[in-house]
Amino acid sequence: PVSIMWFKKDLRVKDNPALNAACDAGKIIPVYIFDTSAPDGRLPGAASKWWLHESLKKLDERLNGHLQIFKGEAKDIIPELMDAFGTRHIFWNRLYEPWAIRRDKALKKQLEDNDFKVHSFNGSLLWEPMKIETKSGTPYKVYTPFYKKGCLQAAEPRYPKAPPARITYADVPDKSDGLDALELLPDINWHEDIQATWKPGEDGAADRLSTFINDAAQQYDEQRDLPAVEGTSCLSPHLHWGEMSPNQVWYAIKDKFGDSENKDIDTFLSELGWREFSYYLLYHFPDMVDKNFNDKFDKFNWRYSEKDLKAWQKGQTGIPIVDAGMRQLWQRGWMHNRVRMIVGSFLVKNLLMHWHQGEQWFWDCLVDADLANNTAGWQWVAGSGADAAPYFRVFNPVLQGEKFDKEGEYVSQYCPELKDLPKKYIHKPWEAPDDILKDAGITLGEDYPEPLVDLKASRKRALEAFDEIKGG
Ligand code: FAD
Repeated sequence: PVSIMWFKKDLRVKDNPALNAACDAGKIIPVYIFDTSAPDGRLPGAASKWWLHESLKKLDERLNGHLQIFKGEAKDIIPELMDAFGTRHIFWNRLYEPWAIRRDKALKKQLEDNDFKVHSFNGSLLWEPMKIETKSGTPYKVYTPFYKKGCLQAAEPRYPKAPPARITYADVPDKSDGLDALELLPDINWHEDIQATWKPGEDGAADRLSTFINDAAQQYDEQRDLPAVEGTSCLSPHLHWGEMSPNQVWYAIKDKFGDSENKDIDTFLSELGWREFSYYLLYHFPDMVDKNFNDKFDKFNWRYSEKDLKAWQKGQTGIPIVDAGMRQLWQRGWMHNRVRMIVGSFLVKNLLMHWHQGEQWFWDCLVDADLANNTAGWQWVAGSGADAAPYFRVFNPVLQGEKFDKEGEYVSQYCPELKDLPKKYIHKPWEAPDDILKDAGITLGEDYPEPLVDLKASRKRALEAFDEIKGG
């Protein structure tokens, strides 16, 4: 038979369970839909749209130009295509975002009620959320038991599949709106650095993985916290768009380094575990996208300042490690994990602004913006999440900078106006004596901002605000 293969967040040919099954069944019609029915603010943000454009281009090349691309509502487009192409079968890999689950369940029912056959698969998680539960049958809320007891003691993740031996395309009319109809590229050219940094698509993902395995993987435990070093895999956008499955990463690592105890490898695999945990939480607690996981925080007295938010977004807070991170985000569409935690803590605690403000800015700027990881990351930072950093633990960005960017290389790269300051002051230019500032060519308030807030006083303010909800 002829089947529709509906690509979603699995923009790859290798280890794609739905594609394999569709090709085993016969000829395929590959389809992608940019679904405009996503809830407000949940269509991909600007950086993600650029990525998606490039990734679809690559996938279409890989499919010899057979990918048919549509813009509109999947719930209408899919049944129309099934009729137009005269096919009774559709294959897809499952999504876990609450709105996508609702959409796909309703569509599946509608199709099956009309005698169509829906074949769905797990193409993006090592362990699907519905299969992991505590002994009492409730969902886990704490990471370590989730990973160690739930996941690692469940059945081993699927070993990656070889690509289909042969992909045969059905001879059907081309109904595609075309990639350009999605209008994913920005009007103004702000994405040059992003373009120079990343290679979207399956081949780009494979390159990143092999570079990581040959290079940083064996020092991961030590180097993953150093933002000036390429000590992490940078696979997050590839994993988000499914240009590579977590199974491919998991087993590439295991095949190379074996199963024996290795701190670097175990730590890296457990980061993939955090990705699983975010998806797990999103699946079991879908409200966490909009609401505090811990409802005690509903009473929290957040403040809002347009001026402070803009300074944070632009990397103009006057706190070097925070500014470096925010500028890395703007320039590269990505930020180092350690620095995500630092800029997050600064926004939520020192500036006392709601984690939604940060989550939304990240959503627009990150090439790896991911509903599960971003929501879980922000709720973790805010202290309102499951198994979160306690609210009273306020990161001191100066000490964080001095510890993880000792030589000030990261700050110098993204805040070049500070690069001539001695190391002693690069994370706290406001403490530098006038002659040292002068030698480094800096006038605070002109070349680089004065600190937006006093770190001590703003920490105290945050703790007092927290005290108000602590008992409740
Ligand atoms: P590596 O260290 O090489 O890790 C390998 C993979 O494991 C990553 O690609 C990612 O898929 C997963 N991973 C690593 N750390 C985490 C983590 N803490 N939580 C969940 N998964 C993890 N990650 C996103 O993919 N999308 C987001 O939108 C996102 N938003 C975040 C927001 C905040 C406030 C914070 C604190 C973290 C966020 N993260 C997000 C998690 C993490 O920062 C990134 O996954 C990581 O920096 C990606 O870099 P990497 O691929 O080099 O990671």
